[in-house]
Amino acid sequence: MSNLKEDILETTTKTLDLKKVRAEFPVLHQEVNGKPLVYLDNAATTQKPNSVINAVSEYYKGYNANIHRGIHTLAEKATAAFEETRKTVKAFLNAAEAEEIIFTKGTTEGINLVASSWGRKFVEAGDEIIISSMEHHSNIVPWQMLCEEKGATLKIIPINEAGEIIFEEYEKLLSEKTKIVSIVYVSNSLGTINPVKEIIERAHKVGAKVLLDGAQASSHLEIDVQSLDCDFFAFSGHKIYGPTGVGALYGKRELLEAMPPYQGGGEMIKEVTFEKTTYNEIPYKFEAGTPNIADVIGLKTAIEFINEIGKENISAHENELMTYAYELLKDIPGFRPIGTAKNKISVLSFVIEGLHHFDIGMMLDAQGIAVRTGHHCTQPLMGIFGIEGTIRASFSIYNTKEEVERLSDGLHRIVKMMK
Ligand code: PLP
Repeated sequence: MSNLKEDILETTTKTLDLKKVRAEFPVLHQEVNGKPLVYLDNAATTQKPNSVINAVSEYYKGYNANIHRGIHTLAEKATAAFEETRKTVKAFLNAAEAEEIIFTKGTTEGINLVASSWGRKFVEAGDEIIISSMEHHSNIVPWQMLCEEKGATLKIIPINEAGEIIFEEYEKLLSEKTKIVSIVYVSNSLGTINPVKEIIERAHKVGAKVLLDGAQASSHLEIDVQSLDCDFFAFSGHKIYGPTGVGALYGKRELLEAMPPYQGGGEMIKEVTFEKTTYNEIPYKFEAGTPNIADVIGLKTAIEFINEIGKENISAHENELMTYAYELLKDIPGFRPIGTAKNKISVLSFVIEGLHHFDIGMMLDAQGIAVRTGHHCTQPLMGIFGIEGTIRASFSIYNTKEEVERLSDGLHRIVKMMK
């Protein structure tokens, strides 16, 4: 892994040294249904490099111990490794302080934490919460639950046919009633990159807070929470080559300090008596119980993997693959892309008129090609496009042009056979 960056950068402007990159991902080297695996479901979860797998296994083999509470050597080593990840995440998001980083299970828990803790304290009857039409269910349901509990109203930013938010409509929704705008940075179903800096600026003008769902953005775009000036930012480790079951929530210090704890238990307290409990400082106030230590440690290695290659190199490669895929697929009879925003990442969502996405997904799987089919946890968005679901091919650093050709050949064959 140590020379990976040099090797890749030598060739990156022409072609990435994909052999070296792919060698880092053991899962890619297998046959599925008798054919070499083509993994194009990266928006759902990315595969894990050896460095991440080894970091998790080294923790269990070498220094498994509970953190923070122990004074013995293994506990101190585990605590140090765990807290090192917090510093790495701080740098990854360019947060001002490591204390503004809370470890979670992932994006879903990050959003739920804000809705439950900040929302319950600061949202009242008659208030409004704004989300967009392209939200993942994890950025819809927690706010619906809060609105129901508090008597607040959920407002939805409409989108155009390309799958871009209509900014003027967003501006019309904003008012002094708006308490928070919670919006996806990059859509998992469409690939759209939302103009979040402008969205945040406008929200702040009416005194609203902004949460960014960074689940898809974090592996493709440079994130700078200070320059964006977002109030909260949530992401998941498993979408950035890290383990499942771990993620982080960034929140501005003054907001986190004003928020009540999310869960009660060990670690989040300063002192407990049967009469009264005082709470720990941030971030520990929000990290009740034994956390997912091994996977937090693995998350650091995942971020290092990304940093070694460089996000600009990762996105350049992925975008090239998406453009190539579009060129190869666009003449398939009935092919209709869903999500054609000018500013988008390497997610190619489409339908083939007259054929069901599930059938296509199953037939591609029979050829060893893994794509996602369905509503991608964005059912309201599918409704807006008048469809039940799409076929989604999403590209990552380890995908190749040959794999795109396999997808194209497979689809051409299926459509010829079924139409
Ligand atoms: N938001 C978006 C845009 C996503 O793509 C996803 C996962 O697909 C999530 C939120 C939820 O992430 P997780 O399931 O890791 O909590």
